[in-house]
Amino acid sequence: MSRTLAVANQKGGVAKTTTVASVGAALSGMDLSVLVVDLDPQGSLTFSLGHDPDQLEVSVHEVLLGEVEIVDALLSTEDGMTLLPATIDLAGAEALLLMRPGREYALKRALAQVAQDYDVILVDCPPSLGVLTLNGLTAASEVVVPLQCETLAHRGVGQLLRTVTEIQQITNPDLTLLGVVPTLYDSRTTHSRDVLADVSDRYDLPVLHPPIPRTVRFAEASASGTSVMTGRKHKGSEAYRELAQNLWDHWDGGKPLTTIEAAV
Ligand code: ADP
Ligand code: MG
Repeated sequence: MSRTLAVANQKGGVAKTTTVASVGAALSGMDLSVLVVDLDPQGSLTFSLGHDPDQLEVSVHEVLLGEVEIVDALLSTEDGMTLLPATIDLAGAEALLLMRPGREYALKRALAQVAQDYDVILVDCPPSLGVLTLNGLTAASEVVVPLQCETLAHRGVGQLLRTVTEIQQITNPDLTLLGVVPTLYDSRTTHSRDVLADVSDRYDLPVLHPPIPRTVRFAEASASGTSVMTGRKHKGSEAYRELAQNLWDHWDGGKPLTTIEAAV
């Protein structure tokens, strides 16, 4: 049975795309078959996995609109994952989907055709709570919320949690919120640690282990269109490997997820 994990936060720059690419590559390195879905019209995931969105004929856009079969839009990546890419066309999908009945189910329907081929499907949601993110959350069995540790400005989290609750009530009763993935973590500052404790208290959310440290290696990787997981090992890629193992032990071995509280 495949698991579909959505990575969602309507705030940009919290490392959603980096998390999908890195956890995907780590799971793929564990000999699992992984499909990653780019739901962001910016196509950052597509680009970071070595495909130029401007050069693509078909993408998730045509798949969501039912114009193309999902198998005809899939691409392979150097990290061993399969990618359902996005192009800027997807910016128009919001408006086109809005006019259709069952608009929240378009991705779920498409993924159902290929789900048996994958151990894990990861969905990179765009920085909004529009119809694309609703599609991601409707198609998913689970969701994680990346949060950057460097700021207390987490006001959007309440709104995201309300959206998750609405999805659970309306389109996807089986959706489980696994918790927060702490990103851009600086262990040298007590500030980062305080932010983590605050988030976990205030929203009563598990904070998954380990925190992903801030390192320039990620910026270098996304600028060059190569995955951060393929180059030399560093503390960022190691943290994502640990997170991927934590998730897989939970999915496959039924172990409770290791949280920050449990790890310290
Ligand atoms: P989102 O998808 O939420 O908008 P991205 O994954 O695109 O966020 O990350 C935003 C920016 O932060 C990118 O330039 C990325 O390279 C950088 N970044 C992500 N994670 C880290 C990290 N752990 N350390 C340093 N930079 C990071
Ligand atoms: Mg992104």
